[in-house]
Amino acid sequence: MANNDDQFKKVISHAKEYGYVFQSSEIYDGLSAVYDYAQNGAELKKNIRDYWWKAMVQMHDNIVGIDAAIFMHPTTWKASGHVDAFNDPLIDNKDSKKRYRADVLIEDYCAKLEAKIDKEVAKAAKRFGDAFNKAEFVSTNGRVLGYQEKIDTILSRMAKSLENEDLADVKALIEELEIADPLSGSKNWTDVKQFNLMFGTKLGASADTAMDLYLRPETAQGIFVNFLNVQKTGRMKIPFGIAQTGKAFRNEIVARQFIFRMREFEQMEMQFFIKPGTQKEWFNYWKETRLKWHKSLGMGDDNYRFHDHEKLAHYADAATDIEFKFPFGFKELEGIHSRTDFDLKQHEEYSGKKLQYFDHEDNASYTPYVLETSIGLDRMFLAVFSNALVEEELDNNTTRTVLKLPAVLAPVKAAVFPLVKKDGLPEVAKQIVDDLKWDFNVFYDEKDAVGKRYRRQDANGTPFCITVDHDTLEDNSVTIRHRDTMEQKRVKIDDLRDIIKKEVDVKHWLQKMK
Ligand code: ATP
Repeated sequence: MANNDDQFKKVISHAKEYGYVFQSSEIYDGLSAVYDYAQNGAELKKNIRDYWWKAMVQMHDNIVGIDAAIFMHPTTWKASGHVDAFNDPLIDNKDSKKRYRADVLIEDYCAKLEAKIDKEVAKAAKRFGDAFNKAEFVSTNGRVLGYQEKIDTILSRMAKSLENEDLADVKALIEELEIADPLSGSKNWTDVKQFNLMFGTKLGASADTAMDLYLRPETAQGIFVNFLNVQKTGRMKIPFGIAQTGKAFRNEIVARQFIFRMREFEQMEMQFFIKPGTQKEWFNYWKETRLKWHKSLGMGDDNYRFHDHEKLAHYADAATDIEFKFPFGFKELEGIHSRTDFDLKQHEEYSGKKLQYFDHEDNASYTPYVLETSIGLDRMFLAVFSNALVEEELDNNTTRTVLKLPAVLAPVKAAVFPLVKKDGLPEVAKQIVDDLKWDFNVFYDEKDAVGKRYRRQDANGTPFCITVDHDTLEDNSVTIRHRDTMEQKRVKIDDLRDIIKKEVDVKHWLQKMK
């Protein structure tokens, strides 16, 4: 496809056209950075959530799931540090009146330098052919080393300034690098300010007794405040985890990348409670385990990379992101954080309740350390969807648009067609739908020529099409067509369930994590 921008536009319009994602309140011109999942999107999202839940909760006998409320006692957010420190550095452009995240402007500048490195590498690879050694090239080529050094210097200065709350230096950096407003080209910037991302609301009817609340900006705190309840009622022994999925809300400053950064989104988080001192080992374990989960979906091993944090959040002693190659480049998809005992200790302090674990083996109590895995469901949706959308050149010089969703995640598993709308074929096709719908989401379509129906299902991401023809009436067999290979096979109606199951079954996919 032409370029990344075009590809991203195609992703957004395909998501709308095929009933995956709509802009919220579109008839009122939409609401910025808020989206609705449509008939297919809701299914895909549910399937991703289930895939995560099964891998995390069902497959681990020491991880359980909960579903905490979005509203929490306001002191929660004092204790967690969100009231004081959940800020982003924002900067306004005085000419365009557009608002940006100062750190993102600087990161984007570095991404451009990185693109230059990639260009040098691609050029050299072409020049040297098979003899090309990428590792050697990037560690010796003067130009590449120069770019890399510049990136490192910029990022570490930014990290230090943010850490020290030296916002004047963040602005100075933007000015020194001559970063311009990407939309207007203007370099006329305001000072950098901190902006709290939590949405406030009120609980209660009368103005004087109403309590100020926040919509939760992450699901994690619902797990921490329930740590002891779950540990006791579930008789959980350390190490153990608590998982949950649910909505989170952030008043993001810049939200211009479709469902990548939304103001209302869904997280899938797991907090793993461990013995202090074992955090390094568990950090590595979860890094590896989460990457395996991603790779099990077969979306291309080269599309993932780790990005270890230089600037650690106030609660962490180690942190990494799993980055994915989105149409606009490598960006954070999931975070893995070693949170120490920060959260439980804070909640102990603010609530006055003990949140400790008695270790029978050691005959001692301690505040557990925590390892967190945190992934945005919507961001995962975008990763899956954008990676799946391809335009394929066919042998007969035509192209087809295919949504190569991992079959386990596809909203519709099979579409069933009568070849023609007569001679009893629709009745047989409908009977097949009635039989299969107990096990899978299936779809019946009799409109247009069969070729057109195939293409519609290709673009919709449906892994199988089943066609009933006149021979079916004689021999109870049908044609099953595979979305990715377009291969067609004649099979018995009675075998359909097993054929489909083999490919869409969670077990078949999750086993790849082993
Ligand atoms: P970013 O740096 O992109 O703002 P973050 O580091 O603040 O993300 P975390 O607080 O670690 O993100 O949240 C965990 C995960 O939640 C992220 O990896 C991402 O997948 C998802 N997420 C965070 N903010 C948003 C958002 N505004 N919209 C959609 N998903 C989000």
